[in-house]
Amino acid sequence: MDSVVIGGGIAGLLTALRLARSGHEVALVEADRLGAGATCANHGMLHSGALYVRQHGHIVRHCRQAQSAFGTLLAAAELPTDPAVYVVPDADTPAFLTGLDTHRIPYQRTAADTVDELPADIAAAHVLVTVNERVFSSRRLVEILAGQCLAAGVTILTGSTVERITRASGRVTGIRLGATEHLSATSVVVAAGIGTPALLAQVGSRHVPLLKSRLDMMLHFPRSRVRRGLIFAQLDRAVVMPAPGGGALASFFGGVQPPIAGRRGFAVDLDKAALLGVELARALAPGLVGPTGGVAYMAGKTDYVGSPHAENGVINPGFHVIDHGAGDDLVGLYTVVTGKMTLAFHASKAAADAVGGGTPTCTSRTSTPTRFPPGCSPWNRGPTRESCDGRHPEPTNHHHRRDPGLRQPLVDGGGAHRPERRRHPGRLQRAALW
Ligand SMILES: Cc1cc2nc3c(=O)[nH]c(=O)nc-3n(C[C@H](O)[C@H](O)[C@H](O)COP(=O)(O)OP(=O)(O)OC[C@H]3O[C@@H](n4cnc5c(N)ncnc54)[C@H](O)[C@@H]3O)c2cc1C
Repeated sequence: MDSVVIGGGIAGLLTALRLARSGHEVALVEADRLGAGATCANHGMLHSGALYVRQHGHIVRHCRQAQSAFGTLLAAAELPTDPAVYVVPDADTPAFLTGLDTHRIPYQRTAADTVDELPADIAAAHVLVTVNERVFSSRRLVEILAGQCLAAGVTILTGSTVERITRASGRVTGIRLGATEHLSATSVVVAAGIGTPALLAQVGSRHVPLLKSRLDMMLHFPRSRVRRGLIFAQLDRAVVMPAPGGGALASFFGGVQPPIAGRRGFAVDLDKAALLGVELARALAPGLVGPTGGVAYMAGKTDYVGSPHAENGVINPGFHVIDHGAGDDLVGLYTVVTGKMTLAFHASKAAADAVGGGTPTCTSRTSTPTRFPPGCSPWNRGPTRESCDGRHPEPTNHHHRRDPGLRQPLVDGGGAHRPERRRHPGRLQRAALW
């Protein structure tokens, strides 16, 4: 294998897809089922960036770009919802609206009597602001991306836990599955969510203390009739989203977030679940969610906090890619921490670029439309280098920006620019997809 990607969540799937489409022979290894980590446990919100205008302004532009790109490329996974409503206390409103203006996020103030998901007293005591947050079925996203990976030639192993990353003379040599099985690879990308710190600890990475994993409690109300996202600036920043297949998904950011180590066996604290149910029932219109009608589950995620953008040194919704060749002296090992499902669009690009080693590509920043020869699309990279070398037109301001690698349709199993050199059928082994 050229590359092994560890983890079959949104970050691993997108990274594997980008690598395969740029000509790498890729295996993706998932301990459980695809999407079994945070990806299929989350709210499914592809962020506009509005949630971050005040504390994490650096990711707003990325959210906006990703929301738009996913909306086009993965439209089949989008849920039809009404525009989301931010429920903002009066005192916070000027800062929030200024943030939206600064980041050019379209919004509208909404009359209290038009949001029937909120009780009259809460609606009257807050400013209601509608923003175009988009809600997706995470499971459908995973299905689509898995199909695209297979079409692009990725070998997918599910139900296969990576026990360790193997190395020799300062380079990765592959991964070990189970007690004896070894899969050789020139590069290994860790996209293992809350499994990441344990894998990196085994190779002695100095980045381990900078990875913080924590739990959130999610409540699923299967019978709730929520038509839009509701995002509370107070109330521990509760987020309620329409769920795929009906009902609502809710969590309280900051409500239940113990730090964790390891990646399995996180029991639901029933007292806390009941408390959250009661709080939520108070915040929403009567009958929308019953205090006891929710099913609670725990979802864990990992942030990279070795960045000045980390909030209180423990939370960072931004993405980060580590090249372990620098600092850990382990060439060929990369880690991708996506921060948000939304930002996996950029995180996977940064990871695939890092693995590609800065391969020059046929892209250009020039605004003048440029014609590229066949097989040398501005949206493709990697092995197209051969086909590009000396053959592509030299545009004004040419530079070696690396491309997203995803402009090929993600929905129709396409791959119009997939290089011929390494073509091989994708394989799905050991277990079924979702
Ligand atoms: C409650 C909650 C709500 C959220 N809501 C949103 C939202 O609405 N919008 C948004 O953009 N983001 C949201 N997020 C964040 C988002 O879900 C995550 O940032 C994102 O899904 C992480 O994706 P990932 O691929 O990095 O990790 P994961 O989806 O966790 O995938 C990692 C995978 O690696 C596998 N793995 C781990 N160890 C190993 C191993 N040793 N061998 C093989 N496989 C292994 C796991 O089984 C898992 O499937 C939310 C997070 C939480 C916790």
